[in-house]
Amino acid sequence: MQLSLSPTATLTSPPSAPQQTAVPTIAPLDRPLDLDREAAAPPPNLAEPSHPSMVQLQGVTKVYANGSPALAGVNLDVKRGDFLFITGPSGSGKSTLLKLLYGAERASQGSVMVDNCDIGQLRGDRLSLMRRRIGIVFQDYKLIPRRTISENVAFVLWAQGFARKEVQRRLTPTLKIVGLQHKADCFPEQLSGGEQQRASIARAIVSTPPLILADEPTGNLDADNALQVMKIFQKLNAFGATVIVTTHDERLVRICNHPVVQLSKGKLHWARQ
Ligand code: ADP
Repeated sequence: MQLSLSPTATLTSPPSAPQQTAVPTIAPLDRPLDLDREAAAPPPNLAEPSHPSMVQLQGVTKVYANGSPALAGVNLDVKRGDFLFITGPSGSGKSTLLKLLYGAERASQGSVMVDNCDIGQLRGDRLSLMRRRIGIVFQDYKLIPRRTISENVAFVLWAQGFARKEVQRRLTPTLKIVGLQHKADCFPEQLSGGEQQRASIARAIVSTPPLILADEPTGNLDADNALQVMKIFQKLNAFGATVIVTTHDERLVRICNHPVVQLSKGKLHWARQ
């Protein structure tokens, strides 16, 4: 496999590690991307991480300030390199669970550990540094309209202070992973919905985060584009990233044979292990 998220050591390094020197590289592809083949390829032989859990929730309850209950006594352990679906009807707490994982909300009770770090206790710069280690994909893409696809993706690296050369070195292979190298200079409105979502995935992974969170990433896509997006997540997972995807698309969950947890009124149970 010519494309890799390596070295492993940086997948497990603490959030305070300097990003410019520590983040792994994505080697360029010298052939067109074949998603089927890449997704089916075996994962690289990653060294044993210092801690096997990427995400650990213990007794997590979330009640919003207005009194709305969102999560109730949730326990969850996601190992490094796992791929997990979170399903459940609208309002069952899926987005809230992801927000706790990237520190946009805090638990009312219980602990939320991400990459060995109690994210609920982080503030300011430490939280920002931790978030750099999490790639987030949203249903509505959240691309900057007046910026090209290249700029949208590069923006993440500029914001983290990467040197111009390093930004260039990462940009092309990242766009190739999502099959958008030929759209680099287009603006978001010139792309289809599926392409925009793939651009947002490129933005999420350009700094090679070890954890990828996707909140209903296929919610606005037709079946073909949804499958293509899932294949990209599977490929990233095969390269060693831990991937957590919320969805209510049961067809997709059936096709992709990964473990599934289900939320129902804020309570979590395993639907497929
Ligand atoms: P899902 O992603 O499964 O649709 P959410 O996590 O968005 O569910 O919502 C779970 C519950 O929390 C719902 O009852 C919702 O109304 C409530 N909720 C979500 N966000 C907020 C918020 N910012 N303020 C108050 N209540 C919220």
